Amino acid sequence: MNLDTLFGYFDHHLLRTTASRVRVARHLKSGMVQRLQRSKFQILVRHLGRHSRFYREKFREHGIQPNKVRCHADLGGFFTTSDDLRQRPIEDFLCGRPEFGFETTGTSMGVNKRVYFSYSEMVEYGRDGAVGLWNLGLRPDDVVADGFDYSFWNAPFTAFYTIQAMRAFHVIGAFVEPREFYERVRVYKPTVIMGVPTHMVRVTEVAEQDGVWPVKFLLLGGENLSERTRRYIESVWKAKVYLSYGQTEAFGANGIECPDKGGYHVSDLSLVTDIDQPDEEGYGEMVYSTLNRTVMPMLRYRSADITRWATDGPCNCLLKFTPRLAKIVGRSDELINCSMGNISPYWFEEILRDIPQVTDDWQVVVRRGDRDDRIEMHLELRPGESAADVQNHVFANIQERFPDCWRYYTKKFFEFDFQFHEPHSLAGGRKLRRLIDARTRSWND
Ligand SMILES: [Zn+2]
Repeated sequence: MNLDTLFGYFDHHLLRTTASRVRVARHLKSGMVQRLQRSKFQILVRHLGRHSRFYREKFREHGIQPNKVRCHADLGGFFTTSDDLRQRPIEDFLCGRPEFGFETTGTSMGVNKRVYFSYSEMVEYGRDGAVGLWNLGLRPDDVVADGFDYSFWNAPFTAFYTIQAMRAFHVIGAFVEPREFYERVRVYKPTVIMGVPTHMVRVTEVAEQDGVWPVKFLLLGGENLSERTRRYIESVWKAKVYLSYGQTEAFGANGIECPDKGGYHVSDLSLVTDIDQPDEEGYGEMVYSTLNRTVMPMLRYRSADITRWATDGPCNCLLKFTPRLAKIVGRSDELINCSMGNISPYWFEEILRDIPQVTDDWQVVVRRGDRDDRIEMHLELRPGESAADVQNHVFANIQERFPDCWRYYTKKFFEFDFQFHEPHSLAGGRKLRRLIDARTRSWND
């Protein structure tokens, strides 16, 4: 019996409850986890070589011998990309009979990626997720309400299987109109609320007017959340707001925030996570392999999310032996190299985070200016606020937080063009694309 089979037996037969898994998690040593991870990774590569048409072909093309692969680096220049998922028939990735399908959201390419799972895989993710939620304070006697959108999306099921593994009470409010969500959910007095930031902000606005009840914490995911919005939601509910981070390709379970909020804890027993080609500050694209999947596993998948390993000191939570990813600063397809610098949505979140006169919906368009690039900042000004004050505050923040960028600006390497709009007008109900590179188009676009 190899190490993985032994661990699997132990895990399934002796660690049935979240509480017992938590007790074991406390004593896991990183050396033991590394050995198990490596063993699971080797099994994964061989599994793919035997059962997936796509991976078999790619291994041949790249001269990869599955039996000899022990870590990501052994795969040389091979990565799985989202284009592979879009362009190849899904059957080429399948290694077993699928029982559930999800699609990725927010893609601008016209073809949605599909990702398939089995029930037992989702149960497995739920068991892992429950340990992460225990770490944030969830217990079996809690009442959880979730406000996730159910169409084609994995997030509500990640929540479902996690809450089921915890054996907590669950009521599904889903993505109904915020006031209805608030009023109907209030009857259950949920101690934990889950959902997406844009929806929960609206629910919180209702709660601010009509009153709150005791809540342990809120768990949000699926979109970026600015620190300002987090503080607002926390101030109304008088409870902590935590974030989970994940892609559909990993059942939305890439990481769950540490109670200290110093990054997302990553489970080394269900994922191999790497930062590809990190820059001098450690930032690069996160790539990962899924270790607990047999139906449609992902091998060294390019996430397109830019982040780095958390650099602040070790935390003191239950998962302190697992690594932490820092905040996601942008998408590799959203990084724009222009005369302002190598800009990402993170820059503008940092620049705007303490300017409450504008809303969280903003968009930046990079255009060709008279001499060099023109950075068009589209902001939503709240009623009665002064555009000139906002502009001055933006300049002061750039000077303080991005001094190099400020120097380029004072040397006139690029220009700013501020355009102010009414609140709720930029997004028009859709997910807002934060950065647009319009330089490739003609001037009049
Ligand atoms: Zn921690």
